[in-house]
Amino acid sequence: MLNHDPYPDGGVGTVERPWMDRVIRPDEIERYLINGKDFIDDNFIELQLRRNARPDPARIRDIIAKAFAIESLDPEDTAALLNVQDPDLWEEIFEAAAKIKNKVYDNRIVTFAPLYCGSRCVNDCTYCGFRSSNKAIERRALTFDEIEAEARIMAGKLGHKRIVAVYGEHPSTDADYIAESMRRIYSVKEQARVGLGEIRRVNINAAPMSIADLRKLGDAGIGTYQVFQETYHHNTYRQVHPAGTIKGNFDWRLYALHRAMDAGIDDVAAGALFGLYDWRFEVMGMLCHTRDLEGRFGLGVHTVSVPRIEPAADTDFSWLTHRVSDVDFKRAIGVLRLSIPYAGLIVTCRESPEMIRDVIPMCTQRDASSRIGVGAYEDAESGQKEKRQQFILGDTRSLDEVICELASMGYITSFCTAGYRCGRTGDKIMGLLKSGKEGCFCKLNAVLTFKEWLDDFGTPETRAVGEKIIAKEVAEVQARTSIDFSPLMVRKFEDDLARIGQGERDIYF
Ligand code: SAM
Ligand code: SF4
Repeated sequence: MLNHDPYPDGGVGTVERPWMDRVIRPDEIERYLINGKDFIDDNFIELQLRRNARPDPARIRDIIAKAFAIESLDPEDTAALLNVQDPDLWEEIFEAAAKIKNKVYDNRIVTFAPLYCGSRCVNDCTYCGFRSSNKAIERRALTFDEIEAEARIMAGKLGHKRIVAVYGEHPSTDADYIAESMRRIYSVKEQARVGLGEIRRVNINAAPMSIADLRKLGDAGIGTYQVFQETYHHNTYRQVHPAGTIKGNFDWRLYALHRAMDAGIDDVAAGALFGLYDWRFEVMGMLCHTRDLEGRFGLGVHTVSVPRIEPAADTDFSWLTHRVSDVDFKRAIGVLRLSIPYAGLIVTCRESPEMIRDVIPMCTQRDASSRIGVGAYEDAESGQKEKRQQFILGDTRSLDEVICELASMGYITSFCTAGYRCGRTGDKIMGLLKSGKEGCFCKLNAVLTFKEWLDDFGTPETRAVGEKIIAKEVAEVQARTSIDFSPLMVRKFEDDLARIGQGERDIYF
């Protein structure tokens, strides 16, 4: 780990090169290949998409019915869904997707925000503002004190309980740095209106790592490890990730989540950057990804993300030929919901408020009050302008505004982080999710954590609509006593809620 800063300019030089040469471990790719091949068979995916063109509506309705079993669909079925043309049939798919979301996750939405720790990067992804050849961007890696300062604002002022920490790929932000940054984030306790603001779950969005490095993140208490494949299409991948960079190695990235599982991190997340290639192919790629994980580890991805390409500083996008329209974006989300029904689905502030409102019934998580520059939360506090953004955001509303809107739409914002802290992760949580039992814990914890948040951070308007949702949830739990909740559980829940009202914090099932 580096305590001083020998990389004032970022980029790739004589210091970075030897480090880069050590990152990829060929044996940690080869162990997963079958007959020397990875599990993304481009021809097979194209063939499925061609073979299942013009699917019969009756078949589509059968596939929809299958998805209610909360098992991942097979690629043929997903290809058929992706080929639906009739707008009315799409409406049936969206309706089913919202019902499945409710069946597994109820009316809960989890919120989080990103914390950008470093913008130095040795890779040169053509679409990213942080790419090494972009001289327009101001580079830095936060010191650990600066990371704490960012976390203090996020936990103490904005009221976040979960964040995703984001890093470029660079020796100054290596696995040791990431692990220490997590520890510093977890250490933050900031006085809020009544209780203490703290980050209870740190997810990581960082480059693929070796199994040994991933163990370091496991030891530091990682929540979810996110690595987006960007595109599952081999040729496109090669075009946008130059050879000679670490990210230029498709298979090193493809097996990042497999290595995480082997390192004991059973909570992993996939994603594709929509716009690089045909969105239908990317949905098929994500499905193949989770199915390969299921086949090997008995456990698929915990969440999938659907970022769409956004403009970035000094970045030419004239070469993009697969931009995803709003209509197709919604369709991709609908098909993902049906195809990987147990997975959480994350929509981000890259999208406009209107777009998010349209797809949120099928999603489980969104970010809010996000800032995507390195040190950007402090900059906003001190009135500095952001010059360090990775790309441009579509929804810049505050967490309070977002929560107020969600509550007025009938959603409860959950700040629950209990599952991971009680060991309900990996196959344990998947089993509970599929059977609908996790929903019982989550429902109670959502109410308890939402109440905490309203009392500590909510504006009077948000508290008023939020309390109405809480009253409705409490009544629902009481009505389901002895059906889904034991009388003992309900009594404890009512007591806990009263204790939170009196200022106690961090009580959960
Ligand atoms: N450097 C790490 C990596 O590439 O995996 C993690 C951080 S990177 C900043 C996080 C994600 O941002 C990438 O995986 C990519 O999907 C997304 N991203 C990059 N450029 C983008 C753009 N112009 N618009 C939207 N998302 C972008
Ligand atoms: Fe670096 Fe990640 Fe941006 Fe690629 S997407 S340039 S790896 S920060």
